[in-house]
Amino acid sequence: MKNMLHPLPYKYDALEPYIDAKTMEIHHTKHHQAYFDKLNAALEKHPELQEKSVGELLRGINNIPEDIRTAVRNHGGGHANHTLFWQIMTPKKNKIQGKIEKEIKKSFDSFDEFKIKFAETAMGRFGSGWAWLVLNNGKLEIMNTANQDSPLMEGKIPILGLDIWEHAYYLKYQNRRNEYIENWWNVVNWEKVEENFDKAGK
Ligand code: MN
Repeated sequence: MKNMLHPLPYKYDALEPYIDAKTMEIHHTKHHQAYFDKLNAALEKHPELQEKSVGELLRGINNIPEDIRTAVRNHGGGHANHTLFWQIMTPKKNKIQGKIEKEIKKSFDSFDEFKIKFAETAMGRFGSGWAWLVLNNGKLEIMNTANQDSPLMEGKIPILGLDIWEHAYYLKYQNRRNEYIENWWNVVNWEKVEENFDKAGK
């Protein structure tokens, strides 16, 4: 946790035209950086927690000392959520295939049905939050969370996540969250999602 915030795995303009460079830059260098810094500041009060991964901290959120529990929930969640978000996007054109395609079809009837349900769940979150594809007791499920809450706090493993805070899309899409969601499918990194699925099942 004491390390520097990682750079993105691609350039800020790499996801154009679907996500604009200015949004990506502010999102990473200001928003994500702030979550990261505030998490680290909170952990300074409990140095014994500094060696834990952010995933461990969130899974054990109820055991985090009360004086920093909200900070770990908000800023640790923010750090974990954004770290996943950058990884499950890519400028490389790629299609869903292989095991993850099979599992999504099995769980949601078809890929199109999955996308519709995911978009509905993302649209259905009032205010700020995230839409997720998670593995819950071995089953794929779609859910959303408020603010920076992580599915890890409920014992669920996120394998795909979409940031639906206005800071993720407002510069380009203003209030058109639906258009942002629709365009976002063009930059999903399905190879990474499959990798997350594989790891989550182990
Ligand atoms: Mn964000």
